[in-house]
Amino acid sequence: VDPKRLTIPKPPLPPPSIPAVFIPVDRTAEIQEARLKLPILGEEQVIMEAIKENPVVVLCGETGSGKTTQVPQFLYEAGYGSDHDIIAVTEPRRVAAVAMSQRVALEMNLSNRVVSYQIRYEGNVSDETKIKFMTDGVLLKEIQKDFLLQKYKVIIIDEAHERSVYTDILIGLLSRIVPLRQKKRKPLKLVIMSATLRIEDFTENRRLFPVPPPVIKVDSRQFPVTVHFNKRTPLDDYAGECYRKVCKIHRMLPPGGILVFLTGQAEVHSLCRRLRKSFPYSGKSVTKEEEDDSQEAMRKFKKSKHKKPVNLPKIDLDNYSAMPLDEGDEDREAGEGEEDGEGSDLELGDEASDADEKPDYSLPLFVLPLYSLLAPEQQAKVFCPPPSGTRLCVVATNVAETSLTIPGMKYVIDCGKVKKRFYDKVTGVSSFRVDWISQASANQRAGRAGRTEPGHCYRLYSSAVFGDFEQFSLPEITRRPVEDLVLQMKDLNIEKVVNFPFPTPPSADALIAAEELLISLGALQEPPKVGRLKDLQKAKLSSPITALGKTMASFPVSPRYAKMLALGKQHGCLPYVITIVAAMTVRELFEELDRPAASDEEKERIKGKKARVLQMQRIWAGQGPAQKLGDLMVMLGAVGACEYSGLTPKFCDNNGLRYKAMMEIRRLRGQLTTTANSLCSDIQIFLDSKMSPPTESQVTYLRQIVMSGLGDHIARRIGQEEMLDEKWRHAYKTPLLEDPVFIHPSSVLFRELPEFVVYQEIMETSKMYMKGVSSIEPEWIPALLPQYCHFGNPLEKPPPYYCTESGMVKCHRQSSFYRIGWQLPAVVV
Ligand code: ADP
Ligand code: MG
Repeated sequence: VDPKRLTIPKPPLPPPSIPAVFIPVDRTAEIQEARLKLPILGEEQVIMEAIKENPVVVLCGETGSGKTTQVPQFLYEAGYGSDHDIIAVTEPRRVAAVAMSQRVALEMNLSNRVVSYQIRYEGNVSDETKIKFMTDGVLLKEIQKDFLLQKYKVIIIDEAHERSVYTDILIGLLSRIVPLRQKKRKPLKLVIMSATLRIEDFTENRRLFPVPPPVIKVDSRQFPVTVHFNKRTPLDDYAGECYRKVCKIHRMLPPGGILVFLTGQAEVHSLCRRLRKSFPYSGKSVTKEEEDDSQEAMRKFKKSKHKKPVNLPKIDLDNYSAMPLDEGDEDREAGEGEEDGEGSDLELGDEASDADEKPDYSLPLFVLPLYSLLAPEQQAKVFCPPPSGTRLCVVATNVAETSLTIPGMKYVIDCGKVKKRFYDKVTGVSSFRVDWISQASANQRAGRAGRTEPGHCYRLYSSAVFGDFEQFSLPEITRRPVEDLVLQMKDLNIEKVVNFPFPTPPSADALIAAEELLISLGALQEPPKVGRLKDLQKAKLSSPITALGKTMASFPVSPRYAKMLALGKQHGCLPYVITIVAAMTVRELFEELDRPAASDEEKERIKGKKARVLQMQRIWAGQGPAQKLGDLMVMLGAVGACEYSGLTPKFCDNNGLRYKAMMEIRRLRGQLTTTANSLCSDIQIFLDSKMSPPTESQVTYLRQIVMSGLGDHIARRIGQEEMLDEKWRHAYKTPLLEDPVFIHPSSVLFRELPEFVVYQEIMETSKMYMKGVSSIEPEWIPALLPQYCHFGNPLEKPPPYYCTESGMVKCHRQSSFYRIGWQLPAVVV
């Protein structure tokens, strides 16, 4: 035997248990210890192997299991962020993008030049960035510049269960980009992360992913949560009910944080105040205002003849988790075989109101609010342990449901409601409504109680009502107008938007309405007017983008406002148009001054402020012809005045302006100016924050520009002779709505009642109210918005011009519009 031929085959190398590349990370011992407690750490191997083997992976895990903070670190360690490659993480909320980049940088002991964030106006991305947190909207904009997203090696879509519109569209686009990158031999990995909510829309949708992506579930080590339903039909006063329940838990039950879910900022504040009054805590880490509240309550308490002894019930702590809250609770309504099997009720009965007057002061309660508009440093407080000897009570809106995990919560009080913005599909009228949550949300909320030990969730509604909840809430894309999305997609040359692989498609009506609006704005090509209706509808749903549309798509604002910007170059109006558009986009410049006051003193203060604000608004509204620009002139004036004063919090507070909104307007003005300059090379405009007021003729042009963008938002005052009944007094008629609409009382044109107006939006409260109102001249309509007019026979009488279906415009001054020196078309690149 030729020894040379005898070869012993080498055994194959065992698969590497750690990735081939390993980038070390220098974490502190403290961080490392905290990390090891997170359920996701045990799954690192499985997750990384799945990502290595598959282009798309869905990762599903209970909120707080460590997805957002840990998965980017796993990827970094495995070398996905080496050389020039970047790991991208998208978040639906700005706060999350900023907070999470800071947290991950801290955990990894790296600077914010390496772990960075980018949100709409700001960021700290550098050429060293390896992990980049951003909002989903920012990544969508990047796709417009580089469809293949070449600088990224992995894209993590976080909080996919939230189903924000941009997240949905990103997933649709990425489902096409990933195979393209594969072909280019520069593979891109997509990781979709979600709380344990319905994921079938991503995994079972064959149009989206022909090969279903693997799903990795992270076991969450959730402790059992006992759910207690209210026995009775829910009360209207759920905030009061929350208060009573907090009091009761605080008096009766062993230590552990209390998390209350309410619907809005005002409710959150009012419950916080009420609780602080009842359970004063005079520590140092509260704001001045909070301290005043507490100390005043403490003074009152000491003065009162309150003598009730502190009387804590005896609770067997070892056997606690099996024990419902109302054990030993005198007002328990015993009932065997009651309909709510899971735990029994915490019925508060008639004596419940006693809690109002006679709270036990057994332990101070440390009360913190949490909602998305809260200043970041206030938000961060919930992550810190409460002062020793106190119980933490966080009163939150929906933000605490999945995006933020607060440590140490043992009791959850769920009011069962959520505040949502509703849009009418056809008219675009929006309103905020408080609505029941879905079963999935209710379960998420309950889950917050079982993070560190067994917990309890008190639902302020009966199990029968729970049974009637929707299983899941509808994705945002099915609930809002989609014209901005359609324009963005057309700009990406996706002509047949109906064929786009949406995880959940918007309704055909919404798509048609969007295309029609974009056609009328001139952003899409007009389809041929011949053919049958069916063909026309088809043609309408595949209109290609125009040059004007491309210009409009470059601006990160709604298409109506983008149209104004595209027209704004004329007569030196652009800086003003930019300011008006920025102000309309940011919304709610003025503080809410109609809020209920807690004391007479506060009532007086609010009254005084209101008078001052009204006076300022009148000044900002200008004089003479400037006044005709109405609320938009007020916006212009407010921004101008703010900038002259150096934009200080003090100036804003004195004049009832929201400082945060004014800062955002400043940033958006900067961004829009840069975009406008990059589009037209012939005139460069400079962002002079201190602009002088527009001239008289500029105001007229501004009104025309605004009208051109809001062509479908024109309203005509109902004349005396047309008034059918009282409800039409001071009312306006719009082409889209049957019902009368009114100028909002906060508008500077509320008393002026011009004959024709354009409005920014209609909000429905007690009536349909127009907000952001400017007056226009009727003869401009046929000249600037012929697409909304039918032209009658000029020889006929009555008048020759009619506008839209409702015969809105009767234009007698037919010759005058020819004289308006208006140059169309718009700025086109
Ligand atoms: P998931 O994304 O799965 O919901 P996260 O990665 O956001 O989970 O959170 C993991 C853990 O990190 C949680 O226990 C949370 O409380 C903690 N955590 C997150 N952000 C902070 C922070 N800024 N400070 C302290 N702890 C934090
Ligand atoms: Mg997360």
